[in-house]
Amino acid sequence: MSATDEQALKCTTNPGTGDSGFTVPFVDLATHTRSFLDEAETAIREVALRASFILGEDTTRFEDEFSAYLGVKYAIGVGNGLDALRLALESLEVGAGDEVIAPANTFIATALAIHGVGATPVFVDCDPQTYGIESKLVESAVTPRTRAIIPVHLAGRAADMKPLLDIAKQHGLKIVEDVAQAPGAKYELSDGTHRHCGALANAGCFSFYPGKNLGCWGDGGLVATDDQNLADKLRQLRHYGQKVRYQHTVKGCNSRLDTLQAAILRIKLPRLDDWNAKRILRAQRYRELLAEVADIEFHDAGPRGSHVYHLFVIETDQRDKLHTHLTQAGIETLIHYPRPIHLQPAFADLGYKAGDFPCAERAARRMLSLPIYPELSDEQQDHVADAIRKFFQ
Ligand SMILES: *Cc1c(COP(=O)(O)O)cnc(C)c1O
Repeated sequence: MSATDEQALKCTTNPGTGDSGFTVPFVDLATHTRSFLDEAETAIREVALRASFILGEDTTRFEDEFSAYLGVKYAIGVGNGLDALRLALESLEVGAGDEVIAPANTFIATALAIHGVGATPVFVDCDPQTYGIESKLVESAVTPRTRAIIPVHLAGRAADMKPLLDIAKQHGLKIVEDVAQAPGAKYELSDGTHRHCGALANAGCFSFYPGKNLGCWGDGGLVATDDQNLADKLRQLRHYGQKVRYQHTVKGCNSRLDTLQAAILRIKLPRLDDWNAKRILRAQRYRELLAEVADIEFHDAGPRGSHVYHLFVIETDQRDKLHTHLTQAGIETLIHYPRPIHLQPAFADLGYKAGDFPCAERAARRMLSLPIYPELSDEQQDHVADAIRKFFQ
């Protein structure tokens, strides 16, 4: 295992708890949590006193509030983001013998969800300007077996959906959006209207993993859709395949959004836009503070609101050295992701090799994610920018 891999592994198991020992941790969930802790304690007490822990009132109410926020008809809370993707595919009747197109540069969950329904992931490279899935390559990856595309709104940036929606229409494919990193991001459609990511296609899949822009206190996820039939199926699948107790119409599973988690999310959702706005300001400030550094590239340009900066990613040929330099300066940075999915040992059976997706592979060698979160202070951000400038001097 390389040093980069080890670092990435360490930090995915414990992505910043506020006591990481860094002057500038990658995320600071302890400080974040303090800002709404009193309300959370009250809400949790109420759930406890009602003792309705599974599919309780807060789950239903959060689903209603989240669907209203997104502007979709239905929201179905599930156990985590991976299950959101997997159950969305299953509800769309994607299964064995089918192919699903996904970007090579994403988190492993996107591909595992496809594998989870028995379908085959077909990876495509990214666009070198936006790092979104490259639509021209999507078009050429379509075969008679293709059933769906999963665009990923990576790092918090809306993927370019228009060409994908056109391809899907032309070939009769479904689109399942992976919105795990981009709750609150918006995208402008052809008619000039703006819609939330996750409300643009057949289904939008969210993760409430603690470190995400909208995170709970454990695992959680949700599928958003305007399709009543899909919503019905999802509600059954997440709950042992039953609509009526002990009448199991399909082979479901157990993947429900806990009432306690929903209670936390109900407190956080009204603050999401404000937190995202703070992330956007921090990103803008990084751009200003680092404008003079010629050796860094940014790939985050786009209309305001179309990027909610789950991550602030910079690119440089000297990535590994910069990473070490920043660690020594007390700054925690991460690499998203050090190895594209097609080169992960877990998917070796698909037969991809190095060189298949040059854009994703180059990005994996050059990208570094800097600390960004609503609670990041000016002083902390200055410290990061100073350390980066010093490195390139
Ligand atoms: C976090 C994440 C997921 C999975 O979410 P979990 O809640 O951890 O299962 C899926 N896709 C992407 C792009 C993610 O970042």
